[in-house]
This record gives sequence, C-alpha cells and structure tokens, in this order.
Amino acid sequence: MYETIFDKILSGGLPVDRVYEDEDVLAFRDINPQAPIHVLVIPKAKFERFAEITSRPIEETGRFFSAISKVAASLNLDDSGYRIVINNGRDGGQTVEYFHAHILGGRKFAWPPG
Ligand code: 5GP
Repeated sequence: MYETIFDKILSGGLPVDRVYEDEDVLAFRDINPQAPIHVLVIPKAKFERFAEITSRPIEETGRFFSAISKVAASLNLDDSGYRIVINNGRDGGQTVEYFHAHILGGRKFAWPPG
C-alpha cells in the first residue's frame, strides 16, 4: 500500500479542518466541497477500498458506520437529512486509495446520481 494524502492527514503531516476524532476514525472537511457541508470520514485502520470490507472485523465496520451517524448528528444534519457516499474503484469515482465515506448535506440531492 502506498502512502496517500489521507495517510499524511492522519499522521498530522497535512493540515485539515477536523470535525471529529475518536480511537477508530477521523473526520475532516473535504478540500473541494460538493455541498455546503462535505465531510470525509476515514478509519484509522487503513484499507484501500470498500470491496475489502469483508476481510475487516465486523465490530470495526460497525463502529465506522456508527461514527458516520455521530458525525452527521454533530453537524446538525439529522433533521434535514444527508447523503453518505462511498466511491469504490475506477467506475465508482474513487480518487484516493484509502477507504473513506463522504457525508454530504446542506442542500437537496438529485436521484439518480450522475
Ligand atoms: P474519492 O473521489 O476518492 O471518493 O474522494 C476523495 C476526496 O478527497 C475528494 O472529494 C477530494 O476533494 C478530497 N481530497 C483530496 N485531497 C484532499 C486534501 O488534501 N484535503 C482534504 N481535506 N480533502 C482532500
């Protein structure tokens, strides 16, 4: 696994606007926001793609998704709603090979996605 921009962010080598951190995850604002609120959530235990999640401990996966919910609530998005996006691989539009989830909120999103 090569070092990605998210490895650098996690090790403190690159400044970001952190919104949440616990022992399992780090959440920070996206540098190129696609909505008024656009936050990325990354697990501290690195893997590259969503497709690998089957080889991760189920408790770790549960804590990751639970953290997403906590972060969204802390951003006051529970009432208005929000979208969670996980891009996987080339056709999914993944550009950083470090598994992460996007939390997007503050506007209404279209369906189907582009
Ligand atoms: P992906 O396309 O892999 O699902 O999402 C990667 C996201 O990381 C993109 O939305 C991109 O804007 C964001 N990103 C890339 N480099 C940086 C960075 O250095 N800082 C922050 N905060 N976000 C980044």
